[in-house]
Amino acid sequence: MAASRITPTIDFEKNGRQTGFLRLLHSVHESAYGWIPIPVACIKNGKGPTVLLNSGNHGDEYEGQVTLMKLIRELKPEQVQGRIIFNPASNFPAAMAGRRTSPIDGGNLNRSFPGDPDGGVTKQIAHYIDTEILSKCDFAFDLHSGGSSLMYVPSSLGTLVPGETDRNTKVLELLRQFGAPIGYVSTRPMGADQTLGASASRRGAISIGTELGGSGTVTPAALRVGEAGVRRLLKHIGVVPDIKVDPTPGTRLMQVGGPDYYVYTPEFGGVFEPLVELGDEIKAGQPAAAIHFSHTPWREPEIVKFERDGVVLCKRIPGRTERGDCLFHLGSDYKA
Ligand code: CA
Repeated sequence: MAASRITPTIDFEKNGRQTGFLRLLHSVHESAYGWIPIPVACIKNGKGPTVLLNSGNHGDEYEGQVTLMKLIRELKPEQVQGRIIFNPASNFPAAMAGRRTSPIDGGNLNRSFPGDPDGGVTKQIAHYIDTEILSKCDFAFDLHSGGSSLMYVPSSLGTLVPGETDRNTKVLELLRQFGAPIGYVSTRPMGADQTLGASASRRGAISIGTELGGSGTVTPAALRVGEAGVRRLLKHIGVVPDIKVDPTPGTRLMQVGGPDYYVYTPEFGGVFEPLVELGDEIKAGQPAAAIHFSHTPWREPEIVKFERDGVVLCKRIPGRTERGDCLFHLGSDYKA
């Protein structure tokens, strides 16, 4: 495969604090020789691990973007032992549009890894992150939330790989250190999907992510979880050993398994009436939602039920729903 055509205006090997752009060539009607300026920062000092702090992978998830913008301005090189690469608006066209996906090519960056240097802009970004950033990293933290269409109980998440005991132990410890109310895992083979986290695993980096909130907005409560969590991670891995942190309030470790953890709109679309709240403890068979039919208001609503016991981690935000939309997903307590 060809090398990336994206060029950074900063040198990741240089000591100190640098800010600049990843220049992604983009020749369009309005700007024939133009480039897309994806902001990037790097703080390198002394010996220690390299970590990627990533957000804006989905452009309408803002808690991580705000957390990282603040941290870029705050951290001093002398506090760092190793290297921190900040990629706070990683799908920059999507972040500028406030959308999950790129307005240029429709690309969902977190379904585009390991990317393609000859692909559309989103695949080019994924390829650059994979080959030029994750290849340097010992750790990668990708800060997500529910975006415009979902809301989460503030959570961290990790992927466990069957048989990779040492790695799995490290992932679980990072979830505990992050200290969100919930830390949940799913289990699948190494690098089995097209996410940034899967690329990080293939590159040998230890990775966790977050689902900090959502609804296409920022709340003080979700930001507090994100900011405190990232600081504890940086201290735990030793890259900012003396950063001031609050002790973790404790994390409930949970797991999210197969399709029975999810509730979808099964039949006709309509108006979504949630019958439970985020964080509720659920029993199998309990009603999850009533779907009301605006075009036939006298018809009884369809009642959608949960298929298993669990805790409501995630809910749909928009009031309208169509067949196939995810309305809720559950987590259950983690069992090793
Ligand atoms: Ca996301």
